[in-house]
Amino acid sequence: MELIEGKPVAQAILNELAERVGKNPASRPCVAFIRVGEDPASVYYVRSKQKTAEKIGIESRLNVLPDTISQQALFAEIDALNADPKVHGILVQAPLPDHLDERATFNRVSPDKDVDGFNQVNLGRLVQEDPSAFVACTPAGVVEMIKRHRIETAGKHVVVIGRSLIVGKPAALLFMRKAEFANSTVTVCHSRTQNLAEITRQADILIAAIGRAGYVTKDMVKPGAVVIDVGINRVDDPQSAKGYKIAGDVQFDEVAPQCKAITPVPGGVGLMTVAMLMSNTVKAWEASNR
Ligand code: NAD
Repeated sequence: MELIEGKPVAQAILNELAERVGKNPASRPCVAFIRVGEDPASVYYVRSKQKTAEKIGIESRLNVLPDTISQQALFAEIDALNADPKVHGILVQAPLPDHLDERATFNRVSPDKDVDGFNQVNLGRLVQEDPSAFVACTPAGVVEMIKRHRIETAGKHVVVIGRSLIVGKPAALLFMRKAEFANSTVTVCHSRTQNLAEITRQADILIAAIGRAGYVTKDMVKPGAVVIDVGINRVDDPQSAKGYKIAGDVQFDEVAPQCKAITPVPGGVGLMTVAMLMSNTVKAWEASNR
């Protein structure tokens, strides 16, 4: 069994990006974050993204807005960043407070600065297999892990569990592309899927993006399959100082021994998301310099 760890892959990507950034000393990539409110998880995520950016020479900005902000005022903030030539990437940290429309907000970001890849134009570009598309960071990271571990995907059956805009749907689109490390036969399963285990057992590559700790058990996985666990779930753990631990969607201990390869949680896909955000930012910056 091969363990597909996120850290070496993410580090290799960041090193390559730092080199690309260093090639043009006259300009620096800049990513702007918009955070609405003080949700602790959002504070943590934005801070860690900013830290990584700084390490590889990407400038970052942070606009913190009150959680009472109106949709129009949020649009005005986005419009100002869209118009600022010094800003190459814009990320509005989700989740947004309930009174704000997340879809309209993502669509307000200029497609050419949409480093999260949630704008409808970039989703359209992904469907059209246009290489200029910014692809959502987590599924893009999954493909990158597969690529750097030279896992064959052509003609293979990829089963994705989950149909979210952030992970499941773009993952399915990526693996069905007519491209290297794609060309797969893709099945998408979700909460209404019947006979889930029967389908997942057919997977050569199984991607779990459900959001339920340990949902994928041994009997759902074909021996010799590659398993990519996207899930990040908090589970109670009285033995840890925090009172919880992070677990994936896959029962790692029982599934891993029968796999060809598997990603751990933590230490797997999670580390790729930030690396791919940096990759999208450098791509946006390079496009703006052309
Ligand atoms: P989501 O809640 O938007 O989507 C979950 C999907 O799972 C849905 O499409 C739903 O239909 C499906 N699902 C739910 N219950 C199911 C069931 N019983 N059987 C089959 N399908 C079922 O979540 P998301 O944003 O796609 O995230 C999924 C998981 O990935 C979460 O644990 C999240 O924390 C994690 N995640 C990790 C990263 C990362 O950086 N590694 C990034 C985003 C999300």
